Amino acid sequence: MPSLPPPMPAGSDGPPPIPQAERKAPPPGRKFPCKQCGAKLDYDPEARGLKCPYCGFTEVIAPADENTRAEEIKEHDLEEFLATQEEAAHATIGGHSSQVTCAGCGAVILLQDKVATDKCPYCNTHLENKPEEVKNLIAPESVLPFALSDRQARDSFNKWLSGLWFAPSELKQLANLGQFSSMYCPYWTYDAMTYTSYNGERGDDYTTTETYTDSDGKQQTRTVTHTSWRRVSGEVRHFFDDVLIRAAKTLPQHLADKLNPWALPSLEPYKDEYLSGHQAERYSVSLTDGYGEAKQVMRDHITGLINRDIGGDHQRIHWRQTQHNAVTFKHTLLPVWIANYRYREKLFQVLVNGESGKVAGDRPWSWFKILRLVFLILLAIVLAAVLVSKVRGSSAPAKPRASLQSVCANLPDFSEENSFCGPFVSTRC
Ligand SMILES: [Zn+2]
Ligand SMILES: [Zn+2]
Repeated sequence: MPSLPPPMPAGSDGPPPIPQAERKAPPPGRKFPCKQCGAKLDYDPEARGLKCPYCGFTEVIAPADENTRAEEIKEHDLEEFLATQEEAAHATIGGHSSQVTCAGCGAVILLQDKVATDKCPYCNTHLENKPEEVKNLIAPESVLPFALSDRQARDSFNKWLSGLWFAPSELKQLANLGQFSSMYCPYWTYDAMTYTSYNGERGDDYTTTETYTDSDGKQQTRTVTHTSWRRVSGEVRHFFDDVLIRAAKTLPQHLADKLNPWALPSLEPYKDEYLSGHQAERYSVSLTDGYGEAKQVMRDHITGLINRDIGGDHQRIHWRQTQHNAVTFKHTLLPVWIANYRYREKLFQVLVNGESGKVAGDRPWSWFKILRLVFLILLAIVLAAVLVSKVRGSSAPAKPRASLQSVCANLPDFSEENSFCGPFVSTRC
């Protein structure tokens, strides 16, 4: 049984006490105890600090200054780390000392100590109560704290919903029932200084004027574009800063990409406090695999740089070689609000960037609404045709009538929801 909070110390200048009847009993977690009532403090995005959910006591966490950030958010040398430290990585996250793997989506959820987590926030699967100790973890050295509260995330979501075209009407009522879960998602960032040598060809367009004889036997002239190619070679260099790679593939790529951009300059040095009261996912993409993905991102960018370096109207790259120097990485946690909702037996996922409020979501379509619009457009065309023929005093007024019937005859059967085309359908049927 959870114990009741101890009485508030006399003379405390905290917020006014909440009447006993309105207070819920705090769970027995004591990682960040409330100085006023002893309950566990959670990181509150609106208060920008730890806040007691029972008595309202708040401890603001001041953002780090530039120097502290530079000192504490250390980028690690990738090569050195892989050679010496990866095997030995054994950091844990304070307040999240056990982990559980979701049988539904494979996410490895870092569980909050002494807080029951029964459902996977990603897929709603019931989490088996078989937590393991968190082992061999490369510690995050930075985190982007939640700036949006649950309520603000819901506001962003509702705004997004109201802007959706052809969404089923039931969706809005349903959405209010959806639970938002806060999740710190793991990311790797990579930096590298790159030097790329290349050779290829540059194509420059030029035009000539040609004379020809057309089908009537007349002499005509036309301008013809040609390309002259010449061999080129060169070198491009580029420094990549914070190439962001998802360190877990639980969030679907198409949704995760829509959460960009992330305010990486606002990253804070990692503190357990930011995670208090929120869930976190453990990375599942290895540092090396993440680097492979980062190199592909860099490669695509370098292609653009080479093409610009070659210049001209067209470019061909035949050979290239890139040296990645001084490669560094860091492990960072980014805040995402997640809601799952079920619509007609299908699970839809909506994500809200916990820092910017940007929404990315899957959505159902109302085919009824889409077909209704198509029908109304067709109807408008037919009515316009009738009107035009009447204005012109056409001698065959029966013709547009025939096309109205043919439009109606070709309509799909809306036997369930046919009220919208009532008079027209009954004319036809
Ligand atoms: Zn308290
Ligand atoms: Zn899951």
